[in-house]
Amino acid sequence: MKAAVGGYARARDLRHALELLAQTNGMGRVLAGGQSLVAALNMRLTTGDVLVDISALSECRGVVEDGDTLRIGALTRHAEIGRDPLIAAHAPLLAEATTHIAHAAIRNRGTIGGAIAHADPAAEFPACALALGAVMHVEGLAGAREIPAADFFRDTFETALEEGEILAAITIPKAEPDEVQVIEEVARRSGDYALAGLCLVRRAAGHRVSLFSTGPKPMLATGAMAALDAGDVEGAIAALKGEIDPPSDTQASGAYRRHLAGVLLRRAVARIEGGTR
Ligand SMILES: Cc1cc2nc3c(=O)[nH]c(=O)nc-3n(C[C@H](O)[C@H](O)[C@H](O)COP(=O)(O)OP(=O)(O)OC[C@H]3O[C@@H](n4cnc5c(N)ncnc54)[C@H](O)[C@@H]3O)c2cc1C
Repeated sequence: MKAAVGGYARARDLRHALELLAQTNGMGRVLAGGQSLVAALNMRLTTGDVLVDISALSECRGVVEDGDTLRIGALTRHAEIGRDPLIAAHAPLLAEATTHIAHAAIRNRGTIGGAIAHADPAAEFPACALALGAVMHVEGLAGAREIPAADFFRDTFETALEEGEILAAITIPKAEPDEVQVIEEVARRSGDYALAGLCLVRRAAGHRVSLFSTGPKPMLATGAMAALDAGDVEGAIAALKGEIDPPSDTQASGAYRRHLAGVLLRRAVARIEGGTR
C-alpha cells in the first residue's frame, strides 16, 4: 500500500519548521528520521498528514556539554548516540540502549527526538530519559518550554507536546564520578522491540529504576527504588512486581512480563554490584 499524505515541505531552520506547521490547519506532522512515521503512513494508520521535514535542521543535531548537563539535539541519530564520546563518558545508558534498538539501517536514520516524541511504550530511549531525569526542550511559535521527562510521557504514543510544537533537544545531567547506569531487556530476537525492559541508575542521591514495555508508557518504579536505597534487593523485586500491571498480547502474557521485570532487576543489580558501568 502507498502512503496517502496531504503534502510535504522541507524546513530550512527551526523557525521555518514552526511556521510551516502553523500553516497546516492541524494536519501538520513532523518528519524526522521517518522510521516510525513512514511505516505508519504506508500502513495507512494515518492519512492526509502534511509532512514537515525537519531533517535538515542542523541546530537540532549533535551532542554538546552545557555545564553539568549534556545537550542532545533531537535530530541526533541513534547510531550517532551509540558512538559519541561525550555520551560514552557522561550518559553511558544511552550508548548501551542503542545496541538494543532495531537494526543498523534503522539506527542510521532514526533520531532520539523522534523516538521520544513517538513515545512507543516499548522503546528504550523514553525509559532512559526517565531514569536519567532528562528534560525535554520544546519549541513553539508561542515560545519555548522545558518539560521534565516525568511529566512528558502521558500515555501510549501520547506526550505533553502540543500541536505545532517541536522537540528541539534533550538535556541530561552528566553522570557523577561513581554513578552506574545499566539497561537490561528481553526480546524474542535481536533488534525486536523488548517484551520487557528496565533501566537502573545508581547515584549518590539513590537508585532510579525505569521500565519499558510493561505498561502504556515508561514508568519510574518508585517502590523498587526505595527498597534498593535501603539495600533490600528481594524487597525491590517484590515491590517492582507489585507496582506494574503489564498487558497481555500476542507476544507475551502480562504475568510473563511481570516475571521478566523481576528477572531484569535482579540482573541489573548484579551488574552494578559487579561494577560494570
Ligand atoms: C523494524 C523496526 C524496528 C524498530 N525497533 C525499535 C526498537 O527496538 N526500539 C525502539 O526504541 N525503536 C524501534 N524502532 C523505531 C525507531 O527507533 C524510530 O526511529 C523511532 O521510534 C522514531 O524516530 P524517527 O526519527 O524515525 O521519527 P519519525 O518516524 O520521523 O517520527 C515519529 C513520530 O514522532 C514525531 N516526531 C519526530 N521527531 C519529532 C520532533 N523533533 N518533535 C516533535 N515530534 C517529532 C513525528 O511527527 C512522528 O509522529 C523500530 C522501527 C522499525 C521500523
